[in-house]
Amino acid sequence: MKLVIGKHAGFCFGVKRAAEEAYRCLDAGITCVTLGPLIHNPQEVERLRQAGIASVDSPAQVKQGETLILRSHGVAPEVYEEARKRGIPVIDATCPHVAAIHRLVREYSGNSDAVIIIGEADHPEVKAIAGWAESTVFIFNDPEQVRQADLPERALVVAQTTIKRERFESVLEEIRCRIPDLTVKNTICAATSQRQEEAEKLSAEADVMIVVGGHNSSNTNKLYETCCQRCTRSYLVETADEIPTDAIQKTDRVALTAGASTPQWLLNEVAERLNSLFP
Ligand code: SF4
Repeated sequence: MKLVIGKHAGFCFGVKRAAEEAYRCLDAGITCVTLGPLIHNPQEVERLRQAGIASVDSPAQVKQGETLILRSHGVAPEVYEEARKRGIPVIDATCPHVAAIHRLVREYSGNSDAVIIIGEADHPEVKAIAGWAESTVFIFNDPEQVRQADLPERALVVAQTTIKRERFESVLEEIRCRIPDLTVKNTICAATSQRQEEAEKLSAEADVMIVVGGHNSSNTNKLYETCCQRCTRSYLVETADEIPTDAIQKTDRVALTAGASTPQWLLNEVAERLNSLFP
């Protein structure tokens, strides 16, 4: 078996930064909780919990003496306000790329532009971006949703940072036909594009493609979908125990990639298990 591991596999800059903040707090003896799971990866969330960092659903659940860590997805302004009113110390690990989208949305919506977010309406990053708008917000994940909407004359378009480029372009094309005065900011993160492009290349050349990451992770699932289009033997595994050993031959070229929320230790475990099963 020949094993190739993607150079861009695993934590992106923003997720790595948030995880480092959390472990730095632990080292400094700061008692902290995260607002929602810090990362969309059950194994890393459990590791953090065992180390002493639990997650809460709202600032109201933060206990006296605890510090609240805001994850890389970012939050709506109301969350900062509630934490301030309750006197909760905050460590803001919002990814700087996401914070830049918040500023854009605030600026353009303040000038009466409607805001259109191309992304998944139930994703926390998208919900938080919508929270920064002072005007009407539309969220589209499909060209058909655009066709059915009653749209304004003027709008700002931004993207969920992890959306697939093809999806962004197909939805945008429909919007362009409907809105004359449009400002488009392609806010897809470079880390996402690099990972997707690398996964396309690796999966086109591999006999077996393995994507490591949480089943609950949006970016991992998108990576997996990309790989399935080019390699029929693509698998999404959360841990080394999920490696489809029966489906791999010892002469296969196996390629590994991982979502932006997959820690390096999990990727290493999968690579080590593959090397020991197919030396
Ligand atoms: S994908 Fe990009 S924008 Fe999102 S957290 Fe990672 S580095 Fe930041």
